[in-house]
This record gives sequence, structure tokens and C-alpha cells, in this order.
Amino acid sequence: MEIIVGVWYKRKTRTYELPVKIISADDENVKFLGAEPIGSGIFSMRLESFEAHYDEYEGNLGEEYSIDVLSAAMIRYADTLANYVDGYDFYNKKQKETEQEIRKLQRENRILKVLVEGKRQTAWQKGEIIPGRVAMCSACSKLIISETTLPFFRQKNDKDTDEYYCGCRGFE
Ligand SMILES: [Zn+2]
Repeated sequence: MEIIVGVWYKRKTRTYELPVKIISADDENVKFLGAEPIGSGIFSMRLESFEAHYDEYEGNLGEEYSIDVLSAAMIRYADTLANYVDGYDFYNKKQKETEQEIRKLQRENRILKVLVEGKRQTAWQKGEIIPGRVAMCSACSKLIISETTLPFFRQKNDKDTDEYYCGCRGFE
């Protein structure tokens, strides 16, 4: 098939029939102005692919395929694409928020479990229990009821857990 520069072509198979206008063509590539669901603008396609997908538009394109109509269609497709991107961003954000919420609930659940079970240390000298507080090992995240004699115990009232070090990596 000989690609004629400046002539309109249209999709062979698609239901939408927005034409594309050939800007240049050589033995390898065809460059055309058009609107596609992926976007609108100037596209470059391998000659063999172009031949497989497009047919020269027979007859007069007429009013409905004027540059104005094509431009409007291109803008419409650009808007559609923008909506897809917005939608994707929205769901992506929602998913991240949900994951964060789940992690938060899982953490709360772990803390509550320690409090409910009254998981108190037995390895060290008895100290004073901080009511309703749980301490987390800064090395392994192990949780235990907050007690003043826990090694390296630090009360962190601005956080949901206090800090200590359980000895999981030795005391050297
Ligand atoms: Zn630890």
C-alpha cells in the first residue's frame, strides 16, 4: 500500500471512525495527526502496522471530519484520558488509606491484646506498672506491659507505645 501524505485514513476494525491525517511517510514509519483512546496528537507508527490497521479514507471526508471536529474529538479523548488518570489516582489513594487504616488497627489490636492478657515481664526486678500502657522493644518490636524496671525503659506519652529493649540482641 502506498501511503499518501496529506490524505485521511481511518481504522479498519474499530467502531469509532475518527480519521487520522498523514503528515509524513517513508519506507519504515508513518507519522500522522489523530485522536486515539490513549491520547491525541502526532503519532508515529511502523509502516507495516499502519497498513495493517488503517485504510485510506475513500471519498470526501466532508464537514463532520473537519479539523475543528477532529480537534474537538482530540480534546475529548484527552479529557477521557485525564479522567482515567484521576480515577487511577483516586483508587490508588483510597487503597493506600485503607492499607494504612488496616496497619493502624493491627497495631492497636496487638497493643490491646498485651493489655488484656496482662503480659508482664518476669525476667527483671518488679517495678511500677504504668496503667494502660504498653512498651515496644526498639529492636524487635516485642510488646510488653510498661514497667519502670524494663531495660532502657522510656515513657513516650505522645506515642501509642512506650520504649524498652528486650535484650534480643544481647546486652553487650
Ligand atoms: Zn527485642
